[in-house]
Amino acid sequence: MVTTKADAVPRVGGRTVEEIRSDFPALARIIERDGKSNVVAYLDNAATSQKPRSVLDAMAAYYERSNANVHRALYTMGEESTALYEESRRAVQRFVNAARPTEIIYTSGTTAGINLVAHSWGRAFLSEGDEILLTEMEHHSNLVPWQLLAKEKGCRLRFIPFGESGELELDRLETLWSDRIKLVSIVHGSNVLGTVNDVKRIVDFAHERGAVALVDGAQSVPHEPVDVQALDCDFLAFSGHKMLGPTGIGILYGKERLLESMPPFLAGGEMIEAVWLDHATWNSLPYKFEAGTPPIAETVGLGAAVDYLGKLGMAAIRDYERELSAYALPRLKAVPGLKVYGEAKRRGGVFSFNVDGVHPHDLAQYLDGEGICVRSGHHCAHPIMRKLDVAATARASLYFYNLPAEIDRLVGALERAKEFFG
Ligand code: PLP
Repeated sequence: MVTTKADAVPRVGGRTVEEIRSDFPALARIIERDGKSNVVAYLDNAATSQKPRSVLDAMAAYYERSNANVHRALYTMGEESTALYEESRRAVQRFVNAARPTEIIYTSGTTAGINLVAHSWGRAFLSEGDEILLTEMEHHSNLVPWQLLAKEKGCRLRFIPFGESGELELDRLETLWSDRIKLVSIVHGSNVLGTVNDVKRIVDFAHERGAVALVDGAQSVPHEPVDVQALDCDFLAFSGHKMLGPTGIGILYGKERLLESMPPFLAGGEMIEAVWLDHATWNSLPYKFEAGTPPIAETVGLGAAVDYLGKLGMAAIRDYERELSAYALPRLKAVPGLKVYGEAKRRGGVFSFNVDGVHPHDLAQYLDGEGICVRSGHHCAHPIMRKLDVAATARASLYFYNLPAEIDRLVGALERAKEFFG
């Protein structure tokens, strides 16, 4: 049972949130600042999540026991390392329900995955005059790679706008469409507005018109069940560090047919089959896209992260976060002078806001004085800031280990901040 009612114990997937929190050493951290001492309230999960002990232990055990390079070693430690590396890939495959492990490419994160598609698929299959459809709410990672590609190839970018509530204006898809659009690349969960977009509708719309569809899953895969076969997207990029895993590891899912048709992006090491002085042939999938020594310990950590999430259950995580978000939104809005940006009907636990007369950086520092971690700035989304007509916002973002009591702490501190800055 999931609940955030004040008199009941919050639970996710049969465990109490308090019990879950004890798996995360960093959540017990005491923040000493301005002569005050507070247990941390970590509310910057859209930037990166905290890591459970099982992830830290898996990575330490790998280094303590099995550290060796993958694939080329015939000795025990090398075989163990390779087995761990490939087992993590299968864990990720099951996690997003990909049809085959060969469709799971290790990258360094969402940004790297999107750049891989831009450089490999984009350069091979787009030509002058072709168009790419994005949205106005993209993170720079799903905007700038396409700007560079468009410049190089003479392509045009089009954008699905978002309205006052922070929802995409999908009714305008039909009129926005052009026969030159070959790729649609869209964010699933906005890291600024909290909006959870109806990506299935957009993917289907693109496919009916013969375009390829990429989904930026950086803010969705950590928070809700994402099934690539049900979604039918051609590519899905996401980051390990936002879903309990370490930094430096991410995933690009791609349909095998497309990955097979694409040339390599980075060259060297694992991605070759045979090399002559003047040419080379490529390894099979997924290795064609995994040049050089990969981040092995990081894949082991990601495998442990995915196991942890799978045991709790992504549906239970989504449901709890929805309740926690429903608890947070009206309380934040009730803070005098506070404006929340983004009130989509389908939204996740990301709250960007400003308090009248207080710079978001000052606000974030004030909150840190109370042990509360929130982000402030443009959140790698300048075009959204411009559209909202703000230079920056503060942002609180939740995960399944957060408690209603932490929301109460945030709200109380914001009220005091408003008085403090007058
Ligand atoms: N896309 C979205 C929606 C994000 O929120 C982020 C990170 O905040 C990224 C892409 C980039 O992720 P990474 O920095 O892990 O590559």
